[in-house]
Amino acid sequence: MAQSTGFGYVSTSMVAVLTAALALTACGTPCLAQETVQEPPRLAADRHTDAHIAEAIRQVSADHIRQTIEKLVSFQNRSTISAQDEASIKAGKGIGAAREWIKAEFERYSKDCGGCLEVKTDTFTEQPTDRIPKSTEITNVYAVLRGSDPKQADRIVLVTGHYDSRNSDTLNGTDPAPGANDDGSGTAVSLECARVLSQTSRQVSSKAKFPAKFPATIIFLTVAGEEQGLNGSKHFAQMAKQQGWKIEAVLNNDIVGGDIGPGQDASLVRVFSEGLPAVASEAEIKRIRMLGGESDSPSRELARYIADVGRSYDAGVKPLMIFRLDRFLRGGDHYAFNQQGFAAVRFTEVREDFNHQHQNVRSESGIEYGDLPKFVDFDYVAHVARLNAATLASLASAPAPPATVRMLTKNLENDTTLTWEPSAGAAAYEVVWRSTNAADWEYAQTISSGTRATLKVSKDNEIFGVRAIDAAGHRSLPVVPEPER
Ligand SMILES: [Zn+2]
Repeated sequence: MAQSTGFGYVSTSMVAVLTAALALTACGTPCLAQETVQEPPRLAADRHTDAHIAEAIRQVSADHIRQTIEKLVSFQNRSTISAQDEASIKAGKGIGAAREWIKAEFERYSKDCGGCLEVKTDTFTEQPTDRIPKSTEITNVYAVLRGSDPKQADRIVLVTGHYDSRNSDTLNGTDPAPGANDDGSGTAVSLECARVLSQTSRQVSSKAKFPAKFPATIIFLTVAGEEQGLNGSKHFAQMAKQQGWKIEAVLNNDIVGGDIGPGQDASLVRVFSEGLPAVASEAEIKRIRMLGGESDSPSRELARYIADVGRSYDAGVKPLMIFRLDRFLRGGDHYAFNQQGFAAVRFTEVREDFNHQHQNVRSESGIEYGDLPKFVDFDYVAHVARLNAATLASLASAPAPPATVRMLTKNLENDTTLTWEPSAGAAAYEVVWRSTNAADWEYAQTISSGTRATLKVSKDNEIFGVRAIDAAGHRSLPVVPEPER
């Protein structure tokens, strides 16, 4: 298992060295350069658990997820080019019927939380392409749990899965294409997160003026068109970009069914993240190369955040960070968000069974082909849903990440001074850092007042980030500083 725990890197002698080497100055006013810290910094592997979030993820139900996936499969073929006329919707066949059912399901959850969800559709017409023979209407369906803090409600975290499916032929819209794992599982994760997190908001603040418990907004999205060319997610991400949505994190779940075939590891889920951002300009890539920032894209910080959530909450599955955009030569909806500059990662089971993806349902030489519910491990999907829900709730509870994070580099010196702007909702800040060759954050130092810190740690040997913390201990995503001369 390649998961780093932070603790794993630290020997006793290293702690002793760090204890001696670390002296921190967190400047209030007036700022006196007192070197006060005698104890080693807290490691990022510390658990920080919110009882409400822990309770919310306990509500995730493998049985409910099974019902969702079986219902999606019952529509027979959910190809983006399958039927969506009224008669087919009535007969419960095709993508139109799936779309209407998902919408009704979100509306049902909303009714159960006193109308806390806004259920919406994003419909557009895609012109013919090699995988779309004639102009086709495509609809994304989503539910919005609006943030409770007017100062933070424009911050958005989002979970998505694709509800379209396919069989061996991308142009077949009629024969069975059950898509139980690809991507009934991801659609079920999005729906289940909506169900449990909307319930949480009702329990905690039924009398509050704002229905949601989370200061920031959560969007539960299901898209179509993935199998024809990421059409749905591209349209949604472009819309979000054009309208200036502040999406901080996108969790894309695609093939999280935990196929029960041999070799599966149900204790882990892969989390893929891009290294160099898709939208980095030439000047930005030049700076990344100069400073060794190849493993610190916003998407990768999101992956590390998920690793942190995996240590703090008992989801039943641990994230396995894969430092790569996606599986070899394959793609998914998170990339459509990366292309618009949003931090986005992909969750996928550890071992895919290619007999059970993109296959006509059939038996040949004793091998069963097809993406059927009987190959899905519903407990596993529930664990992945718990990890997603805990991540969404943690991010939506946390303050905004600090803005304008800078590392002062005017003078040549062996310590490190960082500055940043205050975040809405922050009670304190935390500087995190790691060795340049470490996968995950190793050390953390709380900065309880001010927005400036000097650490007796060399900027040349470590990578730094700054994150905001609220009074209850919720952490924002960390921001890696830009050098300032
Ligand atoms: Zn898929």
